[in-house]
Amino acid sequence: MDHFLYRDGVLHAEDVPLTEIARSVGTPFYCYSTATLTRHFKLFHEALEGTDHLVCFAVKANGNVAILRTLAALGAGMDVVSAGEYARAKAAGVPGERIVFSGVGKTPQEMRAALEGGIRQFNVESEPELEVLSAVAAELGTTAPIALRINPDVDAGTHDKISTGRKEDKFGIPVGHARRVYARAAALPGIEVVGVDVHIGSQLTDLQPFEAAFGKVAELTEALREDGHDIRRLDLGGGLGIPYTRSNAPPPLPLDYGAMIRRTLGHLGCEIEIEPGRLIVGNAGVLVSSVIYEKAGEGRDFLILDAAMNDLLRPAMYGAHHDIVPVKEPLPGGPTAQKDIVGPVCESGDTFAKAREMPPVAAGDLLAFRSAGAYGASMSSEYNGRPLVPEVLVNGDQFAVIRARPSFDEMISRDNVPEWLED
Ligand SMILES: *Cc1c(COP(=O)(O)O)cnc(C)c1O
Repeated sequence: MDHFLYRDGVLHAEDVPLTEIARSVGTPFYCYSTATLTRHFKLFHEALEGTDHLVCFAVKANGNVAILRTLAALGAGMDVVSAGEYARAKAAGVPGERIVFSGVGKTPQEMRAALEGGIRQFNVESEPELEVLSAVAAELGTTAPIALRINPDVDAGTHDKISTGRKEDKFGIPVGHARRVYARAAALPGIEVVGVDVHIGSQLTDLQPFEAAFGKVAELTEALREDGHDIRRLDLGGGLGIPYTRSNAPPPLPLDYGAMIRRTLGHLGCEIEIEPGRLIVGNAGVLVSSVIYEKAGEGRDFLILDAAMNDLLRPAMYGAHHDIVPVKEPLPGGPTAQKDIVGPVCESGDTFAKAREMPPVAAGDLLAFRSAGAYGASMSSEYNGRPLVPEVLVNGDQFAVIRARPSFDEMISRDNVPEWLED
């Protein structure tokens, strides 16, 4: 459920008509709903009620500081995958003890920044990384709390580009090597083993792969305890999928996910960490765009929008589906026609939808891409010299620009012309 509904014939974000925001900031823009963010965060929180837990929002899904601050105020921790995301979490007021550092290629500089600023735990993905972290922590005279990210060799059954838990994926330490690497970790200076970590992929629409992975985590935890490690925390990653379209079967609910976690891992008495990104922010955001042209082709008609693949990469990158709806409510049961919906970028991949049934839409009309809050703005770029689109946060009947559209001067002034090219 989200808070983007038609009211008086106009799509609203909570109590604000999207037409009003479009008038104020221009198109395209991202718009997020505080009520939806809050609702989704609380669903996870409630799903794990009664179990010691921390919900760490995966910052890579949406790193805007206002979004992070909204979630932090609800008690969220953060899962970061770079020093830049760590800095964003800190800027949002999240204390180090609620920040988990994930990612397959942390540099010594990134480790140092997190150790100096405070960190809950590093999720370590390889032996070489473990050795470097040990050296960095020892040099700073401190101790790095760690979990090893285990690759359980489970097929998440999701898109190839976002599956991370098969043995051929680049992530984690093969579960068969885990006991040996834990023994090494325990022997290293500057390292404190606190837990086990797993993250098998994103946009999972079935609990079964999670259950298979968590079963392996449970077995491993017992073996590691026998080996003398004090495993007290289990980080189960993110990955729960969202409904991108109403025509598919709905993905599992956080409540069922929480029940499954208890069933597979509850007996271990560990603190549970989860790292959802997409489910918290995905359906809490829309991308609003204007139709620039309608163009009749041979055998197909195009709607050319002012949004493009640089603003919302998911369709080009993953062949992902987004529902695209007019901001002005179409007549129920009115006529529709098939359109290819495309952006202005000079790539054929800049296509949001092919042969999509659409109600009548004319140049100048506003369209909203649903479910665009996760991996939308955070994956955007300025390709084709297109400014990053503004982000707007709605809260009840208020809205605020939480990232402004840069001017061309701002964009250009980031480049430097070397002395030898100056006239
Ligand atoms: C991407 C990622 C997440 C978040 O995944 P979602 O599908 O957005 O929930 C969590 N943890 C790690 C380590 C990730 O890489």
